[in-house]
Amino acid sequence: MIEPGATERAPVEVLSADPAPAGDDALAPILVAGAGAAGLACALAAARGGAPVLLCERAPTIGGTVANALIHTLGGLFDEAGEPVLEGATGALLAELVARLKAADPRTAPRRIGRTRVLSVDPAVYRAVVTGWLAEEPRIRCLTGSEVVAIDGADGRIAGATVCVGGQLHRLRPRALVDTTGEAAVVRRLDPDLVEPGEALAGLVAVLRGVAPGTLAFPNGVALIRHLRAAVAAGALPAACATLWPDRGVGTDEVYLKLNLPTADFDPERMDAVLAGLHDWLRRLPGFAAARLHARGALGVRDGGRIRGAYRLTEADLVAGRRFPDAVCRGCWPIEHWHPNAGVQLQYLPPGTRYDIPLRALTVRGVAGLYAAGRCLSAEPRAQASARVVGTCWGMGAGLGRYLAESALG
Ligand SMILES: Cc1cc2nc3c(=O)[nH]c(=O)nc-3n(C[C@H](O)[C@H](O)[C@H](O)COP(=O)(O)OP(=O)(O)OC[C@H]3O[C@@H](n4cnc5c(N)ncnc54)[C@H](O)[C@@H]3O)c2cc1C
Repeated sequence: MIEPGATERAPVEVLSADPAPAGDDALAPILVAGAGAAGLACALAAARGGAPVLLCERAPTIGGTVANALIHTLGGLFDEAGEPVLEGATGALLAELVARLKAADPRTAPRRIGRTRVLSVDPAVYRAVVTGWLAEEPRIRCLTGSEVVAIDGADGRIAGATVCVGGQLHRLRPRALVDTTGEAAVVRRLDPDLVEPGEALAGLVAVLRGVAPGTLAFPNGVALIRHLRAAVAAGALPAACATLWPDRGVGTDEVYLKLNLPTADFDPERMDAVLAGLHDWLRRLPGFAAARLHARGALGVRDGGRIRGAYRLTEADLVAGRRFPDAVCRGCWPIEHWHPNAGVQLQYLPPGTRYDIPLRALTVRGVAGLYAAGRCLSAEPRAQASARVVGTCWGMGAGLGRYLAESALG
């Protein structure tokens, strides 16, 4: 079992310094850029479908937003009745994720938030689990600290890609290239006009430990939020705390503090000072006297830009529970839109609604062989505000990975 709350950052083994495939096209890998939720799922599903995969991750560790920004409530895995959203082989991969997370840490458990059900998980446990899982899969070569720095296109399709690993450039000719960078970083390199600008508020999460168990139990949590809002209005806390959301954590002594801000306003030193002041303020309240700041995540970007795809998923598709013949997965999370000016707007889908995400929303318009999955899918901002949750990103990646393996090997 992985120690709950472990903060180790096991590096993914760099299997080879030379990611160039053998000259045989049939062995050409599927190149996946970004080892967050969608990239991991895509790599695992494609590899299990029999395809060789090269997974490039810019950061020194894998896990993406969940692990780096400290997301502890995974949405999109279950519907409001607590049933898995996805079935079949794609659903099986997500069920395996849940099983692995539970086996690694018995505190991993479903939890109800409003009308939704999430999986409560320690982000450090998530990182360790996905790192171990990837290492088990012989068809995946994972290169951390690597980036796709150039793409060549010819006659409307991907002809080649250049990967930078440890300062060295490697050319390869992938069968397909999947951008799971969350910000369409790879697609931008081909043509910035193929990406729509992101617009949602970003978020910063900090974790307190040493909080008295039950401190946020109803109605205390609601009272704390009112108290926080009043303190901001009175100038006792900075404006950055105006939309602060305290949430109970995975451990009984944990509280997650979620601050929301425009990406451009993020200054790590200023935010550390805000968190220190907030910590001091909280310690005067019942239950927080022994609280200590345990961790602060990286800035989490909810919408880093979306590809212009062969289809743009719409809010109307979500609300109508639209089905598509080329569906890769399904979503059902509410539209949780963090509007840059208006703040969070939550709109539940009609009860029982599940919508399809079509392959065309993951297919870059006019460029054969180039795809994107995860939060940079092709979607209206309010449609992305539902589809970006972790379980749906896993679903997109898994569905796309299976499709690519089947079409590459068929
Ligand atoms: C503040 C905040 C709170 C959230 N809360 C929740 C929640 O409670 N529940 C929920 O389900 N979802 C939540 N989300 C949404 C969810 O966490 C993300 O949308 C989801 O994890 C995105 O997954 P992804 O695979 O698309 O991208 P990411 O997980 O962001 O992965 C992208 C990966 O690509 C890598 N990368 C970037 N550029 C390059 C490059 N050029 N080359 C190679 N690699 C690159 C990155 O390092 C990263 O590892 C939240 C998001 C934020 C920001």
